Amino acid sequence: MERVHQHIPAISWSAKARRAVEAPISFLVTAAIANPDLINLAAGLVDDTTLPADAVDRIVHGIMADPARATAALQYGTTLGLANLRRQLLGHIEALEGKPASTMGLSADHIAVTTGSQQSLYLLGEALLDPGDIVIAANPSYFVFTGALAGLGARILTVTMDDDGMDVEAVDRLLSRLAGTGELARVKLIYCTSYFQNPTGLTLSAARRPRLLEIVRKHSAHHRILILEDAAYRELRYDGPALPSIKSFDPDNAFTLLAQTFSKPFAPGLKLGYTAAPPEVVDAIVHQKGSHDFGSANLCQFIALTALQDGAYHAQVKRLQSHYRLKRDTLLGALDKHVPTDPAIRWTHPHGGLYVWMELPDAIDTARGSPFFDDAIAEGVLYVPGAYCHPPDENGHVPASHLRLSFGQAPLARLEPGVHRLAAVIRRHLGTIAP
Ligand code: PMP
Repeated sequence: MERVHQHIPAISWSAKARRAVEAPISFLVTAAIANPDLINLAAGLVDDTTLPADAVDRIVHGIMADPARATAALQYGTTLGLANLRRQLLGHIEALEGKPASTMGLSADHIAVTTGSQQSLYLLGEALLDPGDIVIAANPSYFVFTGALAGLGARILTVTMDDDGMDVEAVDRLLSRLAGTGELARVKLIYCTSYFQNPTGLTLSAARRPRLLEIVRKHSAHHRILILEDAAYRELRYDGPALPSIKSFDPDNAFTLLAQTFSKPFAPGLKLGYTAAPPEVVDAIVHQKGSHDFGSANLCQFIALTALQDGAYHAQVKRLQSHYRLKRDTLLGALDKHVPTDPAIRWTHPHGGLYVWMELPDAIDTARGSPFFDDAIAEGVLYVPGAYCHPPDENGHVPASHLRLSFGQAPLARLEPGVHRLAAVIRRHLGTIAP
């Protein structure tokens, strides 16, 4: 066809597309690919060397050798997810909580299987939030979800964190304040990553778990405010007590959703998550999911089911725990050894998960494109700028002197050299702060 020389007008995007911004992940991945010598303390991925290739190989062979299972696994499944898998997952949740599902008002029909737990978080947002609705989250929070919330037009109001995780009394005060200004009706959701949070590695204390539920119940006189408990890192626990979920304190299965995943404790490539939720919330998620993909990959669900049944899953969790415990200790040891001592420099000591959160003096800006960030890239070390993890406060302010460090993907032997490089950058920039 002959080329017509006409003005090519701009595309008229939806309001939602206009709200979406480039995911920080994309540029971090580009930076990592551009320099293979870069030590990547940014990637929140699990270690390539720990992926369960042998177990999955054996499981897939077993499925394909059995005509009935092979047919079922290669066919479409249901939107809610494979019934046997959901039954197995109910048992798995019971084992983690140490109590029967009936005490939490849960059955297998209250579990939705999704394409990663990320899909569940997003579908809940779609089902629940109109532009201007309010979500309360910890500051900092998991930036992929807060980005999705911003894309949905939600207002994210934050509360601070301390060593006991999200400050739930601050949630209480915030809800009271919103009741006073007539905005409580807009509050739909409290988002809490209750175990080894991304990005801080901090865990919500035992006492704060039932307390958060109590607070939400108290403020739910007119409509039900939901708690989204994101437990993606729950099973990557290296020491400290195995805490029951917030959900386990909700006997009627009414106020809380518990979102878990196979990505961290088994293999991200399955991209399989599951969420235990109140019945009407499961329905709402499934209705949205019907338009997204009308069911997660059935083959992956069969693999996950078999891994849970034949012990491969639990063996993998054990392997990961000892591997990442060592990596965590190596990273923390290297930080102690190399990072200059300064009262304004601190970092977390997580009992699980993949992240350490570091605070530098306020005067050091770690944001993308800052001299500190560019210096780190030049030195050959990558981190996630803390600014990505802070939803702006009510004045639009975002703290910029934090870093998220991960001991997930970088090989064990590269962790100390990575910290050594980072420490050199910190030392140089400390030297530039005016006294
Ligand atoms: N929640 C948190 C806190 C995460 O860090 C992640 C992944 N990085 C997810 C949810 C989603 O993971 P997935 O979709 O692979 O289950």
